[in-house]
Amino acid sequence: MSRIAFIGLGNMGGPMAANLLKAGHSVCVYDLSQPAIDAAVTAGAVAASDAHAAVVDAEVVVSMLPASRHVEGLYLGDGGLLAAIPAGALVIDCSTIAPASAKKVADAAAARGLAMIDAPVSGGTAGAAAGTLTFIVGGHAQALERARPVLESMGRNIFHVGDSGAGQVAKLCNNMALGAIMAVTGEALALGVAHGLEPKVLSQMMAVSTSRSWATEVCNPWPGVLENAPASRGYTGGFGNDLMLKDLGLAAEAAMGVGASIPLGELARNLYAMNSRAGNGGLDFSSVVKLVAKDV
Ligand code: NAD
Repeated sequence: MSRIAFIGLGNMGGPMAANLLKAGHSVCVYDLSQPAIDAAVTAGAVAASDAHAAVVDAEVVVSMLPASRHVEGLYLGDGGLLAAIPAGALVIDCSTIAPASAKKVADAAAARGLAMIDAPVSGGTAGAAAGTLTFIVGGHAQALERARPVLESMGRNIFHVGDSGAGQVAKLCNNMALGAIMAVTGEALALGVAHGLEPKVLSQMMAVSTSRSWATEVCNPWPGVLENAPASRGYTGGFGNDLMLKDLGLAAEAAMGVGASIPLGELARNLYAMNSRAGNGGLDFSSVVKLVAKDV
């Protein structure tokens, strides 16, 4: 069992830290939000007064922050966390960020003699709570082997896809497909409902037919179809629209870097931007259905 510092206790980080505790690790936590810290303490964590205090005797540091600027802001620069992490500790960043940012932070960690992997996740808040996340890892194989027992306490599948930053590239490929699939699933349900179909029956049919997907079966965008989906609780508590918008922007950047064509990815990015401008940026990304459906 390891002494773990966990920074970033949001929709994902909170349940991930709770699973580390359940597995028997000792976990010292920090977040900018006091209620998030309080929830982790209730689950058995020790609260730190700031990120530096959290890592004082850590063997492993895990971060789960919104975007590149938060990760670079935490680890780099004068007073950055890398300077405070004990020699020999392992750093695991699970945030979804730009591949270039992940590489920049990992290079700075290596310059300090610290091993670091990028390990963004897939599986949503339900997967975080159930401990069934998929980890998509970039970095040295040796660092991944050290990380494996920690990752296995929070997830079920671990993929090593390449060097530093490669985990982020693979994660962006996944989320670009997810963004487009969610948007078109919402359109399909709205079309059926406009013709008088029952959204639940339509979804049940799609879930065993050729359009089946996570968007239909787990995070269905139509309210009332799945009791535990964000759509059935006012689109709260899932994967934020603006986080999906961030990921689609990162995918567009990644595409430009190699001259790739991503027509549907770009279209999806525009749909989530429209949903954000409609005031739904803080809602779950399945709220993109609001662009095409009345009364949801
Ligand atoms: P969130 O906004 O719910 O949580 C982020 C947390 O980070 C917040 O509690 C915030 O207070 C904290 N934070 C920000 N800056 C900080 C700092 N400098 N120090 C300490 N705490 C800080 O976001 P989330 O949904 O948990 O997502 C986190 C990451 O995981 C994102 O990169 C997201 O793209 C990715 N992700 C999310 C999901 C999902 O379903 N929500 C799924 C897969 C991946």
